[in-house]
Amino acid sequence: MRILVLGAGVSGLSSGILLLKKGYQVTIWAKDLPPNTTSDKAAAAWAPYLCNPKEKVMRWGKNTLDYFNRVIAKDSKSGYMKIKTAGLFTAAKNDQWWQDIVPGYRRIPAKDLPAGYQDGYEFEGLVVDTTYYMDWLVSLFKGLGGVLIQKEISSINEAFAEYNLVVNCTGLGSRKLFGDTSIFPVRGQMVKVKLNGFNKIIADEEGPNSLAVIIPRTHDVLLGGTTQENNWSLEIDPKDTQDILKKVASIYPELKNAEVIGESVGLRPVRPEVRLEAQKFGGKVVIHNYGHGGAGFTLSWGCAQEVVDLVNKVLL
Ligand SMILES: Cc1cc2nc3c(=O)[nH]c(=O)nc-3n(C[C@H](O)[C@H](O)[C@H](O)COP(=O)(O)OP(=O)(O)OC[C@H]3O[C@@H](n4cnc5c(N)ncnc54)[C@H](O)[C@@H]3O)c2cc1C
Repeated sequence: MRILVLGAGVSGLSSGILLLKKGYQVTIWAKDLPPNTTSDKAAAAWAPYLCNPKEKVMRWGKNTLDYFNRVIAKDSKSGYMKIKTAGLFTAAKNDQWWQDIVPGYRRIPAKDLPAGYQDGYEFEGLVVDTTYYMDWLVSLFKGLGGVLIQKEISSINEAFAEYNLVVNCTGLGSRKLFGDTSIFPVRGQMVKVKLNGFNKIIADEEGPNSLAVIIPRTHDVLLGGTTQENNWSLEIDPKDTQDILKKVASIYPELKNAEVIGESVGLRPVRPEVRLEAQKFGGKVVIHNYGHGGAGFTLSWGCAQEVVDLVNKVLL
């Protein structure tokens, strides 16, 4: 059975790979290929950020965590790194709604919190360095026999002219392609600095420094960030860079002198809920898999597994 996947970000490549592993013939058409997708700009840590609905995010997130730790961790070239991940709060906080699906979840003792913070959690998380991971996904996809073509479409009928079954992983592109006005960008800028001894992901998502994140990867550390709704700009904003450096340095003053080696911007594809469902167009079918917000990596393998289930069901 021939299947067309639209999109070569983390959602399209992960879906394509699992479909190939199930024996389907898969071609991807994508306007932008790695390293020019939103996915390439992600911090790519496991964290359910700006994504819904919660019950499904729990299932997809757990399955993704398991797949990363069981399968992806085996290949040292993938950019995968197991890493403690911590959240900080300036006031006492209830436990996280997803705490039961992550290993090693615990509250951080007050004595171990940075100055100004009253509460916090940590767990055994992971990050994938997209500089390596996206290319690695492309190689895996092609190695399994997948065909990757750079091609933009402006109507789904262009896909239906050649394929009966299409998996839609176009992220923000679904706004135009399927007229989905519920999806919108949340702009994220990040600053890359040299490795500096940090060995834990640290995030302040709600406090006075929010959004502040420190994400050590294999060869550098990402500092963030911004969450600007409906801002479509892909230009680096020097003011954002200054704000980011100020926010992280107010948590860890030693970061004041971090050596900046890069900056990047990406647009998170946020939607009230991730869209993962089949839609019929006469005799043709589209399986949608988009709108993962700030959690496209966190949900990637779990959603891809469900794409395969939906394909199997549609073909029954
Ligand atoms: C700064 C930042 C930090 C982030 N940090 C994290 C994090 O720590 N953890 C996490 O899990 N997530 C994170 N995210 C979110 C994550 O990046 C996204 O959820 C994810 O990249 C979405 O992937 P996708 O494959 O669905 O879409 P994309 O990566 O946007 O890929 C869409 C693909 O569809 C193609 N396309 C679009 N329209 C068309 C068309 N008409 N025809 C053909 N092709 C088309 C595009 O060219 C592209 O290939 C972050 C995002 C940003 C911006």
